[in-house]
Amino acid sequence: MNIGEKILLLLKEEISEIEYNRYIKHLIFDTKKSTNDTAIFYAPNNLVLNWIKNKYASKIKHLFEVHHSLHLNVNITLKNQVEDKKAEVKKEQKPQQHSLLNPSHTFENFMVGGSNQFAYATIKSVSEKPGILYNPVFIYGGVGLGKTHLMQAAGNVLQNQGKIVVYTTVEQFLNDFIRHVRNKTMERFQEKYRKCDVLLIDDIQFLSNKEGIQEEFFHTFEALKGVGKQIILTADKHPKKIAGLEKRLQSRFEHGLVADIQPPELETKIAIIENKCKINKVTLTKDIIHYIATVIESNVREIEGILSKLHAYSQLMHVDIDLQFTKNVLKDQLQENRANLTLDIITQNVAKDLNIKPSEIRSKGRSKNLVYARRIAIYLCRELTQNTMPQLAQYFGMQDHTAISHTLKKINELIQNDEDFKVKIEELTNKITSSS
Ligand code: ADP
Ligand code: MG
Repeated sequence: MNIGEKILLLLKEEISEIEYNRYIKHLIFDTKKSTNDTAIFYAPNNLVLNWIKNKYASKIKHLFEVHHSLHLNVNITLKNQVEDKKAEVKKEQKPQQHSLLNPSHTFENFMVGGSNQFAYATIKSVSEKPGILYNPVFIYGGVGLGKTHLMQAAGNVLQNQGKIVVYTTVEQFLNDFIRHVRNKTMERFQEKYRKCDVLLIDDIQFLSNKEGIQEEFFHTFEALKGVGKQIILTADKHPKKIAGLEKRLQSRFEHGLVADIQPPELETKIAIIENKCKINKVTLTKDIIHYIATVIESNVREIEGILSKLHAYSQLMHVDIDLQFTKNVLKDQLQENRANLTLDIITQNVAKDLNIKPSEIRSKGRSKNLVYARRIAIYLCRELTQNTMPQLAQYFGMQDHTAISHTLKKINELIQNDEDFKVKIEELTNKITSSS
């Protein structure tokens, strides 16, 4: 046992078992880097790090003084940074090494709902019959909606069957390319990307306007596709909407199957939160989970942040996590997210986008383009605000709510049947919600 471990055992005697197991136990003492002046410990994550820094760093220091007459600084840092550095060094030595898949990105951990079931079903079936059903699969959707998780879930399944799976982001692919060109080792680059069984490329939108890498990517794509190897791609938008993308790439991306992921509906969010609680060993009551699900608008990535924030605050302040406490902790989040979207703002945005005046949208004009714009505005107002159909009828100068429900029906039909129109509505929604 090293001196650092001995100190932590002494500390164990002074604190509760729960606290020891939850935090102190995870500290690792660095025997090599620690000196007579400084004791270095590594914490596995920020939560543990902050908690120990605030609460126990001085106590640890004191124990060194009392038991070993050592007057030193106690330095606690994140373990990841060290590992990252090691990983970097390793990478430099072994350039052909590729990104690893996150093992917790599995199908079991992925909660399915209306918003993502199409993408889920597509990827799931491809993981069962790679290279045969749809090739490539192209998944698109907003930030934090589970694209990377899904593609890696397929990657994990196939890797466990012994297939060679390469996961990379466009950015890494580009960096790799540049390095191999510089080192004149392009055959190694091609070996890596063209000899795999499954290629997963994340965030394709970054190919935008980068001609050199598009060329290389095209050949990689053709080589793999030609021998029936599965390719899965993700992006934040539909291939059609990625500006500065070569036509031949665009058409190839659309050639297999394009599936979107939409922001999760309430039930899916609740399922995701329950799942994350289980994984992170946090216990929350139903009403708290429900509350968090309503606070988070769409980005699922926020959930993990919220859980650790709740957990950390409750530890620091020695209180249980109840609904009032949750509301206080999440106050800022709520204010940030609750977009103050009004009917006026939405109407103005639609008008601007379609090059007409807002007042025209609300007028009784019957020309084709006015009716079109009005329908879109009504649809978005219904989707993005809490207004009732009678309220919308009043705002848009229509007779009653049946006119509104007729409009909504029409728009929903269009969205179902017309891919371009659907993309258009998504774009407008993004524009409006991100501008508020
Ligand atoms: P994206 O690549 O679309 O930006 P990620 O795949 O990185 O999003 O997802 C962000 C986080 O949210 C990850 O921790 C992921 O596990 C989680 N997540 C997203 N969607 C789901 C889901 N449906 N079920 C469970 N976890 C999800
Ligand atoms: Mg991603």
